[in-house]
Amino acid sequence: MTFYSNKFKYHIQNIRSEGRYREFFNIKRLADDFPLAVDPVTGKKIVMWCINDYLGMSRHPAVLEASLAALNAHGVGSGGTRNIGGNNNHIVELEKDLADLHNKESALVFTSGYVANDTTLSTLAKIMPEIVFFSDELNHASIIAGICNSRGEKHIYNHLDYQHLEELLKSVDINRPKIIVFESAYSMDGLFSPIKEIIELAKKYNALTFIDEVHTVGLYGTGGAGIAEMLGYASQIDIIQGTLAKAYGTIGGYITGNSEIIDAVRLTAPGFIFTTSLPPIIAAAARASILYLKSSSTEREKHQEVVKSVKESFKKANINYFNNNSHIIPIIIGDPVKAREASAMLLNRFGIYVQHINFPTVPKGTERLRIIPTPGHTPIMIQELTNALIEVFNSLDIKYQPQAA
Ligand code: PLP
Repeated sequence: MTFYSNKFKYHIQNIRSEGRYREFFNIKRLADDFPLAVDPVTGKKIVMWCINDYLGMSRHPAVLEASLAALNAHGVGSGGTRNIGGNNNHIVELEKDLADLHNKESALVFTSGYVANDTTLSTLAKIMPEIVFFSDELNHASIIAGICNSRGEKHIYNHLDYQHLEELLKSVDINRPKIIVFESAYSMDGLFSPIKEIIELAKKYNALTFIDEVHTVGLYGTGGAGIAEMLGYASQIDIIQGTLAKAYGTIGGYITGNSEIIDAVRLTAPGFIFTTSLPPIIAAAARASILYLKSSSTEREKHQEVVKSVKESFKKANINYFNNNSHIIPIIIGDPVKAREASAMLLNRFGIYVQHINFPTVPKGTERLRIIPTPGHTPIMIQELTNALIEVFNSLDIKYQPQAA
């Protein structure tokens, strides 16, 4: 066993020596006090500034009511795969709601957004073995996994660079099936993809388009249908992928598109076919969340207001954040150890939880704190966060002010 133990220890030691050793912070989130949590060891309350439950829908009364009703009616588990025993009516209805949200013919639900990406993309190569993937270099790990697992030909374009994308498209036979895979908003820098230009290129070079709207569904567009819808391009995108785990506050992922695409994936994708389906309690909760956010824009508007207030507060305090048009506010630290220490100090000294983001989630040298505002953050919390950041940056000798050009 020593032979193997040493191999694992060596791997861990390497990660540790690069300052990338991760420890997960133990919390209990408070449904009645969003966005607060409690440290179960000390009992101290903590303000969460890094949750992807962007609108607090995980504890919204409409969502709780729907999930409790489903729990009482159907129990906790789903009872099987969709093919054998687990095709509960709540999932069937959820897929109709998702197709309707995105104005597409059909939708397919997976157990997570990760699985939706991984299994859909790899399955496309089973359906079209000749397919060539064109993928933004900063696409999420689940997209990278799907493309790698497809074993198909792939071309990686520079982040958001549609001119580079065109060069790559040009280099491939026009008659080969192709797909351009990109995210509407990148979760680490909060930048939006050039959707219009990508669609134009897809038409010019006869490619399908696949957009990951994980960080934007529920938050942008009419009824929360995402950025492509907000900009008027959703009807020209072939596959829209999203999650039920972030703005919708539950868990699960999905794709929507025309019925042939969705049916072909449904009949072929191992990550869909061979796994137990989402339980009715989750499907019912997700439906309630989607339907609520379709008719109410109050939460979306409040969310945008808080995002604006946080950016204004940082600007006033001369904190150099990475500016973008989205709700994601990164502050680049550029050093894995300092990023980790900043996070720990915020938590231990100020009761503020901002998880640091290090390699491999972001490229080395761009380690960061990533602030995620929610409608539940108050002006006092924003001020306390701003003050705490300045104290922490000063204590750790982190340059936080904009540098002169
Ligand atoms: N796509 C992107 C861009 C993501 O950031 C994430 C997760 O953060 C996923 C997909 C996976 O979604 P899920 O958390 O539902 O598995």
